[in-house]
Amino acid sequence: MIHGIVTDIQRFSLHDGPGIRTTVFLKGCLMRCEWCHNPETIDPAPQLLFYAGNCIGCGECVEACPQGNHRFAPADDGGAPAVATGGAPRVITHDFSRGSCSVCGACAGRCPASSLQVAGRRMEVADVMAELLEDRAFYREEGGVTLSGGEPMMQPEFARGILHACKREGIRTAIETTLCYPWSRIEPLLGELDLIMFDLKLADAEKHRRHTGVSNRLLWENLGRLNRCGKPLIARTPLVAGINDSEDEIVPIARALGRLDNLLYYEFLPYHPLGAGKYEALGRTAPVFQPPSGQTLRRLVHAARAQANNIKIYINGKPENYEIQHTTGSLA
Ligand code: SF4
Ligand code: SF4
Repeated sequence: MIHGIVTDIQRFSLHDGPGIRTTVFLKGCLMRCEWCHNPETIDPAPQLLFYAGNCIGCGECVEACPQGNHRFAPADDGGAPAVATGGAPRVITHDFSRGSCSVCGACAGRCPASSLQVAGRRMEVADVMAELLEDRAFYREEGGVTLSGGEPMMQPEFARGILHACKREGIRTAIETTLCYPWSRIEPLLGELDLIMFDLKLADAEKHRRHTGVSNRLLWENLGRLNRCGKPLIARTPLVAGINDSEDEIVPIARALGRLDNLLYYEFLPYHPLGAGKYEALGRTAPVFQPPSGQTLRRLVHAARAQANNIKIYINGKPENYEIQHTTGSLA
C-alpha cells in the first residue's frame, strides 16, 4: 500500500486550476521561501498548531496530554497568552511546551475550539481517493483534482499513486510544483497529468538561492524538457515587494515563457499575509512582506508583455485587464 503525509484536502477550490477542484496538499518542501504563506506544509512530518487566540480555557487538553505539555496558570504568573474562560470570568495563561510534544494528536482531538490542530496525517492512496470521489459530481468538464504542497515532488510515489487512481476514475488532474527537482522524479508523473502549474519565483540565480534556500538551476533545465512533453502549462510568480517586483526579475522570466509552446497563461500572484496566524500557531515569528503597489504591478504586466506578446497574463486567476480594472483600490 502506498501511503504519504497529507497536510490538508481542500474541497471546492477555485484557485488551484480550472473549474471546481479538490486540492490535496502534500506535506514537505525543499524550499524555504521567506514569504511562504503555508508554513505548516514545509516540514515533512506532522506538526501541532496552537491557535492561542481561539482557546476558551476548557482544560480538555491538560487532561488529554500524556506528557503534561499543556498547563494553566493565573495570568500574573507570566506565560502567554491570556485567555478568558466562560462562566465565572477568570484570566489565565495557557502554557504549551512544544519541545516535548510527540504530535500524538490527543489534545487536538479533544479541543472544542479548534485551538489545537494537527497539520499532517498519514493516508493511503485509497483513503485520499475516498475523499476525492465524494466531490466527483462537482468536477464536471473543467474541474478535477490538484496536487499541491508543500511540494508534491517530495513524495513522488504517493503523488503518482493518487494521480494514477484519479485517471483510472476519469478525473482530470493537475499539479503545482516548483520544478526544482531532478527530471527523473518529474517525468514519471507526466503521463498521469492533464495540467502542470509551476512557479518561477526569481530569475537571478543568486537571489533565488538567497530568498528560497534552493538553486533555480534545475527549474531552468526542466523548463525545456517540460515544453517538449506537450502538456498544458501555467506559470506563476508570487510577487513580493522589494524581492522580485522588478523588471530585472520579470523580464527574463517572461522572455523564457514566450518560448514555450503550451503555456496557457502567466499568472502574477501578489503577496498576501494570510499565513501570519499559522506562523504564530507553529511557535514561529511571522515574516513581514508587502505586495507590489498597483502601479508596479501595471509596470510589470507591460514589461512582461513587451518581452512576449504571445502570452496571456493573469493576476490572481483573472486576466490582468479584468483584475486591474476591478481592484484599483487594493492595487493602487
Ligand atoms: S499532540 Fe500529544 S504530546 Fe503533543 S501536546 Fe497534544 S497530547 Fe501532548
Ligand atoms: S482544549 Fe482547546 S480550548 Fe480547551 S484549553 Fe485546550 S486549547 Fe484551549
